[in-house]
Parts: sequence; structure tokens; C-alpha cells
Amino acid sequence: MSSILRAISAKIAKHFELAVFPSFCKVCRTLLESPEEKVLCRACLDKIIPHRAPSCPSCGRFFEGAGEPHLCSACVNEAPPFSMHRSCAKYRGGLKDTLLLFKYRRYRILGLNLAEFVSEALKREEGLWNGVNVIVPVPLHRRRRWERGFNQAEVLAKEIGRLRGIPLETRALEKVRNVPPQTSLEHGERKENVRGAYRAGKTEGIRDRIVLLVDDVYTTGSTLRECAAVLKKAGAKDVRAITLAQA
Ligand SMILES: [Zn+2]
Ligand SMILES: [Zn+2]
Repeated sequence: MSSILRAISAKIAKHFELAVFPSFCKVCRTLLESPEEKVLCRACLDKIIPHRAPSCPSCGRFFEGAGEPHLCSACVNEAPPFSMHRSCAKYRGGLKDTLLLFKYRRYRILGLNLAEFVSEALKREEGLWNGVNVIVPVPLHRRRRWERGFNQAEVLAKEIGRLRGIPLETRALEKVRNVPPQTSLEHGERKENVRGAYRAGKTEGIRDRIVLLVDDVYTTGSTLRECAAVLKKAGAKDVRAITLAQA
């Protein structure tokens, strides 16, 4: 068969495949044409960009408007048990859509796209990455993990660890109480909600180590504070934290 014929038959096969199994971007509904495009089109993924604005150097809370970096009032009142936390973007728009597809529609493949975004968005935060020995995802309660089929924070942590060459440790923390989602509660209820919800598991992997804690969404910070406190108490030398987005 000549190369022209081969090229034509390959094109026909591709068109046939698209006609029989067309696949559309789950956000903007355009036809996915490139084999690298899975679930979302490149244009939608490219629209997810990091939030660049002043934030608290300790807890990473974004400030509204401009201004010099300064400690937020929450950190002045009570220093968090982690030494620093950084979020990549605000929880809205295309990032929110993508995270919801990943988490609730179970498109696990998006975990890789989101991890690439995190790694790129935070690449200049040397204080965050330097010396990190191990990466620990915020755990889900066993029952919720079973219902969802995976822990979104664990998939993210695993992919981030793979991109940055940091080993994953999933046994150090356990969620022992299935609490209502933080987003369904009033501000004041959230701290109480997570108190005692996490405990240390097998801690050999974190003892005297610098731990990077990973979660998907940062709301009040109570979950990260609680998990970091448990890890510190279990012997972690330092705990730092990253989240994909902050609400
Ligand atoms: Zn799209
Ligand atoms: Zn702060």
C-alpha cells in the first residue's frame, strides 16, 4: 500500500472512530481531537492559572487586594502547627469544574493534570520543597473512600510526589471519624467538626522527617491544622502543606 493510501486509510479510521465514539470536553463540549486530550480539551486546561496575589506567609491565606505580605490575624492569634502552607489558586471557575469532575465524576486521569498544575504553580516556592522527605495526603474516612473508590488527595499527592521525586506515605494518618464536609458547615462549627477526626497510624515513615501534607481544597484551614498537629505529635520534624485551591 502506498504511503498516501496508508495516510488516507488512517484518516478514515480516525474519522470513523470519532464518528462512532466521539468524545467531548466535559467543560466546554468541544470535540476532543488529539489523543492527548482526555476528559478536558487543552484550551480548558490552559485556562487554569495560578493565583498571583499577596498571601499570609505562614498559612497561605490569600488577601483581597494589594499590599505587603504580612501575617494574617488567625496566625497572629495562634501560629499554625505547620510551618507554611501554599494554595495554587482560588476554588472557582475552570479549576473548580475540573476538581469536581475529578472528585465526583471519578475521572482519575485529571489527577495528573491537576498535579502538573500544582507542581508548576509552586515551583518557585523553594522553602516549601527544600529538604522534604515524604509526602502525606489528608486521608478520607474508610467508608467515604470506599464509596468514592479513591481518595482525591492521595491521587494528587502521589502524582505530585512522582513529578518532584518525593516518596508517598499513606499510613501515617488515619481519619477515624466521618464528619460532615467542611463546606456544609458554618465557619465557627468547622474547627469543632474536625477535632479528633484524625489520628496517627504507622508513623515510622514520618518520624524525624520533613513532611509535605497535601489536600485538594483549603477552606478554614482546620483540617490542615488538625492533621499537622497529629503528625508533629507523632514525631515529624517539620510539616509543610499544599492545597490545590482555596475557597
Ligand atoms: Zn474544553
Ligand atoms: Zn495566616
